[in-house]
Amino acid sequence: MATRNIREEGDSILLKHSRPVTDFNKRLHTLLDDMRETLLGADGVGLAAPQVGVLRRAVIVMDTNKTELTPEEQIIELINPEIVEADGEQTGKEGCLSIPGVYGIVSRPGHVRVRAQDRFGNTFEVEGEGLTARCFCHEIDHLDGHLFTERAQRILTEEELEEESET
Ligand code: ZN
Repeated sequence: MATRNIREEGDSILLKHSRPVTDFNKRLHTLLDDMRETLLGADGVGLAAPQVGVLRRAVIVMDTNKTELTPEEQIIELINPEIVEADGEQTGKEGCLSIPGVYGIVSRPGHVRVRAQDRFGNTFEVEGEGLTARCFCHEIDHLDGHLFTERAQRILTEEELEEESET
């Protein structure tokens, strides 16, 4: 496994559409293993392949509600993911490893169900609520070239972020 460089805002790859994964081969497994190491190293909760420069429909998301699991075990790999059900609404703070230091207020569904394939091509469905639902939506957005800053009602000011870190 190796850590890969996280592409940052301003890199045009983040605005591109990713292609479906068709080969569930060693190359994909290496990509996913590297994404896992990169995510854990960056202390994030989700990462999409385009963020490491690969325009393929693969994301990883941490199910942070499963506090009994280690961070490594919380990671869910989603290949060719699709949101098949969404309900409720949550509005809260969101950030992105590709836009360091920037946070905005974004509304997302409170609960989503996602259909995806695992690294071997088997189809499965997974549900998420709260931060996990937010993360599914955020990472899947990356596959279509969308960043959270487009969806944000507003971006938090430096003062607001400072106040938060003081409390
Ligand atoms: Zn992101």
